[in-house]
Amino acid sequence: MATRLRSIPPTIFSEMSALAVRTGSLNLGQGFPDQDGPPAAVEAAVDALRTGRNQYPPGPGIPELRTAVAAHQARHYDLELDPQSQVVVTAGATEAIAAAILAFVNPGDEMVVLEPFYDSYVACIEMAGGVRRPVTLRAPDFRLDVDALRAAVTERTTTLLLNTPHNPTGAVLTRDELDAVAAVAQEHDLVVVTDEVYEHLLFDGRQHVPICTLPGMWDRTVTISSAGKTFSFTGWKVGWVTGPADLVGTVMAAKQWLTFSNAAPLQPAVALALNQETGFYDALAKALQAKRDVLVDGLRRLDMDVYAPEATYFVTTDVRRYGHSDGMAFCLALPERAGVVAIPSQVFYDEHDEGRHKVRWAFCKDMAVIEEGVRRLEDADLRA
Ligand code: PMP
Ligand code: GLN
Repeated sequence: MATRLRSIPPTIFSEMSALAVRTGSLNLGQGFPDQDGPPAAVEAAVDALRTGRNQYPPGPGIPELRTAVAAHQARHYDLELDPQSQVVVTAGATEAIAAAILAFVNPGDEMVVLEPFYDSYVACIEMAGGVRRPVTLRAPDFRLDVDALRAAVTERTTTLLLNTPHNPTGAVLTRDELDAVAAVAQEHDLVVVTDEVYEHLLFDGRQHVPICTLPGMWDRTVTISSAGKTFSFTGWKVGWVTGPADLVGTVMAAKQWLTFSNAAPLQPAVALALNQETGFYDALAKALQAKRDVLVDGLRRLDMDVYAPEATYFVTTDVRRYGHSDGMAFCLALPERAGVVAIPSQVFYDEHDEGRHKVRWAFCKDMAVIEEGVRRLEDADLRA
């Protein structure tokens, strides 16, 4: 195995979903919805399969999807994008992240990243030969510590990887926090890669603000999103990158050697969804908020600290009151004890003391599954 891979453990999502299948447990681990996205988009994909849209699409994506992404950015954020030069379609946000990191991070360069980090960030920075500089969002509120952010930047820092709404904490960066990030990025001339895949899944009336809309930020920011989250088609792996032509072109320079292109018959279907199914994600956010409340209430009836999320479909808990100092051991024992699978958040942390006892639960599942999960946890003996 090449040295660049040796320090990267296998992704926790495969491990925990396999554990759920093997033990027949309810999967409150990996974040994939039980309900598929809009039926009209599925029909459009079937039509595309039947009408010969089965060969390589253009590397940057089919024009109708790039146009639909541009229209979405205009509708929601008042941004005027040129679909030709400022939008690139990718194999999910995952490829967009990989391509952006390969595009901007030289070996030895430092990249500032919010901790806990989504696992592919760590792997991609590692594979690019970069060095991650974590800025930790700490329980209970997971707010951005601006002093810590400033302290994380050195003369070797070239890029900043943002994620808001944030997985796994469910935090949404406030306007003040975004302003602070923008100030640091401009002061140190950093390129900002921002993963905004949960842009539509906010609760309690919160609004998503893309950092690229802040003064001085457009020219230095690439923004990533995905049909996986917005339309509950995680298995389609259709994502996109938007931003100024030079940065998007640089991401494309890497992307062309990763997948070149993907998902030919799914691209027109995602275009249709972006153009016509705009009610879908508002309804999804509303439904998720109700599910969040059920799961958060259920977990609060147990002996855990529960940090209710502002967005996404994950809730974090602290399991120390059960006598567990190790969330990994807790999660590995959970199928047998309760018939439930969750994610040990420690894998998203460098700072082991901050992450060790945290566990992430997904609520993008059918309400009945969440209710049954809570019931099983209540009936189980979860003490260490
Ligand atoms: N970024 C974050 C923060 C995520 O939670 C996920 C998981 N869906 C991804 C990226 C990957 O997105 P995709 O499935 O579109 O590759
Ligand atoms: N984003 C999903 C999660 O956080 C997992 C995606 C994956 O399995 N790679 O649960």
